[in-house]
Amino acid sequence: MRPPPEPDLELRGKLIRSLGAFREMLPGSFVERKRACGRPNCHCADGKELHSQYQISILIDGKPKALNIPEELVDKVRQKIEMRRRFDAAAATICGVNLKRFLKEKLKAKEDRQV
Ligand SMILES: [Zn+2]
Repeated sequence: MRPPPEPDLELRGKLIRSLGAFREMLPGSFVERKRACGRPNCHCADGKELHSQYQISILIDGKPKALNIPEELVDKVRQKIEMRRRFDAAAATICGVNLKRFLKEKLKAKEDRQV
């Protein structure tokens, strides 16, 4: 006989199997900064139409750093940073399922001791 389905375990299994998709994840936050390039004849010189510079904002050895992202890598890097967010969300859900199971187990152990 098949055991009754456990939705929590199904969810956990599904999330665990999805984690491989995040293998390219990157840490930090994706930041867009507006800046003037400094060339006097550029359209940015009036301070209104500034250039976009994309950066990874990150702590390295506890110190905040901003790493410039080359133009051609912006989309890729944005996606990789987003992967980290989804990875963290999946990990939090898995931990939630496991915590619920631990509390159930703990309760059962207590009941068994009282029999
Ligand atoms: Zn400029």
